[in-house]
Amino acid sequence: MEQRKLTDTECTLYGTKACALLNMQDCDKCPLKGRVADPAIFDDLRLFCDLQPEGTVAQLFESETCTLCKDEPKGRTASYAVFDMAHTEPKKLAKRKWLAKQETGFMVPLQFACCAKCRRRILLMSYLPLIAPIVLTLIVLPFVMIEHFAQTMRQAAGWLPFAVVVAAIAGGWGVGKLLAYLYKRKLETDMYVDVRTHPFVLNMQEKGWRPLFNDRAPHLAFTKKRIDRGLGTAPSAVYAMPDREKPASEEKISD
Ligand SMILES: [Zn+2]
Repeated sequence: MEQRKLTDTECTLYGTKACALLNMQDCDKCPLKGRVADPAIFDDLRLFCDLQPEGTVAQLFESETCTLCKDEPKGRTASYAVFDMAHTEPKKLAKRKWLAKQETGFMVPLQFACCAKCRRRILLMSYLPLIAPIVLTLIVLPFVMIEHFAQTMRQAAGWLPFAVVVAAIAGGWGVGKLLAYLYKRKLETDMYVDVRTHPFVLNMQEKGWRPLFNDRAPHLAFTKKRIDRGLGTAPSAVYAMPDREKPASEEKISD
């Protein structure tokens, strides 16, 4: 069935601050399309603004210089490191239709403007536990495969060549973890490797936000083009808009 396109007079959100905050870009992609929006959305989105630390999440992706570099001069923004945070508010959100899939309250992708150097360093650090076992295995493999060495090993014990490969993988993983740890310690002097220690994230936590996944190592996803659709992706100017700049059908909205 073909859905009818909404017009600005039919959608209670269209043109309001709430609409700009949801930042769906296209009415066709908006989850609220085709229904009269729950008036509580206005309250929810006002709460979303209240839960923003100073500068709002927009400051992270609007920065032209790296937000992970600690020292000046900071590198130029070349990509974005995405880290998801969630809030338990609003409690009723899970029951509300407009974001029914969420079990928590608000979710927001923090998009840290990141320079090429910081991205390269974080990726290398996260790949070290994978790279080290591969390198070590490639080093021991010729010894296992060259008949002269293999024969000597088999004479000592039949399972020895196999054990050597397994030991290279396991040992490599351990070495990789250790190298990653040492590398992280070194990097921490001039960049925020663990974004959970970033001043902005600490401010978010003071406002009740928590990392969406409570991993021991925070997962960062890198993207060249920032996420520009959905809650938390609107530019900072939107947060400064007056509330309910233009509710299309005032009579449908109750306070
Ligand atoms: Zn940087």
